[in-house]
Amino acid sequence: MPELPEVETARRGLASHLTGQTIADVVIRNASLRWPIPNNLPELLRGLTIRSLNRRAKYLLMDCGNCTLILHLGMSGSLRILPVDTPAEKHDHFDLILSNGTLMRLRDPRRFGAVLWHNGDGHAHPLLAGLGPEPLEKNFDARYLYAATRKRKVSIKQCIMESRIVVGVGNIYANEAFFRAGIKPQLAAGKLSLPRCEKLVAAIRATLNEAIKQGGSTLRDFVNSAGQPGYFQQHYWVYGRNGDSCRRCGSPIKQIRQGQRSSFYCGICQK
Ligand SMILES: [Zn+2]
Repeated sequence: MPELPEVETARRGLASHLTGQTIADVVIRNASLRWPIPNNLPELLRGLTIRSLNRRAKYLLMDCGNCTLILHLGMSGSLRILPVDTPAEKHDHFDLILSNGTLMRLRDPRRFGAVLWHNGDGHAHPLLAGLGPEPLEKNFDARYLYAATRKRKVSIKQCIMESRIVVGVGNIYANEAFFRAGIKPQLAAGKLSLPRCEKLVAAIRATLNEAIKQGGSTLRDFVNSAGQPGYFQQHYWVYGRNGDSCRRCGSPIKQIRQGQRSSFYCGICQK
């Protein structure tokens, strides 16, 4: 599933191809995504100039002046820039045709993605308006996390996965960040001290930034290749390593369930 680093990598890769371009047309082959693609999208977007491509959580926001095209990659979506005459394949549900002879194509086999239109600034869309801070921005800091988790009995891992606390950390990167911070995922959120909040915030940032940096090397695949774009395969500390030896201390990695998600941790390195 594309997580925040993959979406941010896609944004960086796509932005230079889209910014300043005029939308010549829109092709909807299958409108049945997570929510239906509005069927009047061609009339709404034709002739508009793309001002910028931004990201909020895992949503891409294409600023078209007075309106915003909101995109979400769901479980299996990918976006590519291709020559306008490239034949569409089975799961290519949506094209944005640009006046420079290219198109931006959404491929989404599982169709959990979304293409939505918002009249105005996309940040005000109901799906986005109630979201918590971005993990890589300054307002997500130790003091904020400390204040947001006081009196919470739920585990700190489950708190981090709540989008009103912080957006887009994702299960894989959360597991890795908890290992990096030396914090047990099942610790009650309200018991995390301010210095440990500091460690956790730093670990979340470092984990996500590392993945984004790694994505930079596969950027071209996201934008131009004819094949499937690869999501980042990483050398995980704990994620998916139940029973394997901890890369730091050698003791076996444990797996537990927390709110329908798997958590992996080292009982020695994480307290
Ligand atoms: Zn260990």
